[in-house]
Amino acid sequence: MNSANNPEHLAISKSKGVRIDWQDGHHSEYTVAYLRDECPCATCTGAHGTEPQKSDYSAPDNPFQMYKPALKMLSVEPVGGYAIRINWSDGHNTGIYSWEHLRAICPCQECEAKRTAHAATGG
Ligand SMILES: [Zn+2]
Ligand SMILES: [Zn+2]
Repeated sequence: MNSANNPEHLAISKSKGVRIDWQDGHHSEYTVAYLRDECPCATCTGAHGTEPQKSDYSAPDNPFQMYKPALKMLSVEPVGGYAIRINWSDGHNTGIYSWEHLRAICPCQECEAKRTAHAATGG
């Protein structure tokens, strides 16, 4: 197991999101909408060959949608020391957010640039 990417400190605000200070000194801040949209569960990603049911909470407001209920986390449970499981106010709770996944989706400019660079080398 690669233990380099464990969180040194985890700060959870149920209405705002999660902040992680990593052991390697990196910092990540995730809004609730972003985390919900990046849910790694089979339903959201279509891992079982089904149509991905990705949420779009962090997308710009849809003019055809009159009201979007405010999303928040009802509870966050640790999973086996390698992940957290989030119970969402929209009833979803099957996503297990491993440290690896959280680090991979870090929304900071530095990580965003790395991901973009990787995507660009593809073709
Ligand atoms: Zn999901
Ligand atoms: Zn980052």
